Amino acid sequence: MNDKIDEILELLYITDERGGSLAEAGIWPEARNLLNSMAADGLVEIGDDGPLAMTNAGRARAEQIIRLHRLAERLLEDVLELSPSVAEEGACQFEHCLSTDVADSICTLLGHPTTCPHGRPIPRGECCRREKRGVEPVVVPLSELESGKDARVLYIGTKHHDRLDRLTSMGVLPGAELRLHQRRPTFVIQLGETTLALDQSIAQDIFVRRKADRAKKAMGQ
Ligand SMILES: [Zn+2]
Ligand SMILES: [Zn+2]
Repeated sequence: MNDKIDEILELLYITDERGGSLAEAGIWPEARNLLNSMAADGLVEIGDDGPLAMTNAGRARAEQIIRLHRLAERLLEDVLELSPSVAEEGACQFEHCLSTDVADSICTLLGHPTTCPHGRPIPRGECCRREKRGVEPVVVPLSELESGKDARVLYIGTKHHDRLDRLTSMGVLPGAELRLHQRRPTFVIQLGETTLALDQSIAQDIFVRRKADRAKKAMGQ
């Protein structure tokens, strides 16, 4: 299928996700012909004034595109450390050329992230359901880091603003370097001079990038 159709599905999905009606997506009447052919292909239902709903097939396809886009954002911003605007541009290109298999590999590498850098949910893939950890992910929730390891905070996955504010005020910010001292009974991390104890439920919201082991680094790897 073509990129234009993908872009319309993406727009409908995002409009729906924000709780708007599909007519508000602002693509009628310019995209009338395209929407008619999408309706004929069973992707959308349309009425006299524009798109009414996505069919199950349309939604499944939209989810796939959104998933690729948001995974690409995570990859480009968190792992490749590109600026948000550059990452956004890249993500828009990625969503049209990555296969589902590649998306699942990226998802696994990133530790099956649940949100994009903007806090929007990433639709789950096969890999997330299987939770097969064949590759050791570079990005993991703090709750999965081994004790004694160094890591850098990439993002906080929480939707609770109070929790986010509390972590921020303690210095748990994107870019902060930490060492995990212990995992039980609570997670104890060292952030510069500060030692903090965190509950499991909080540790699993903090996504970190593992730092290469010192030994490996010394060998120039
Ligand atoms: Zn995003
Ligand atoms: Zn996954």
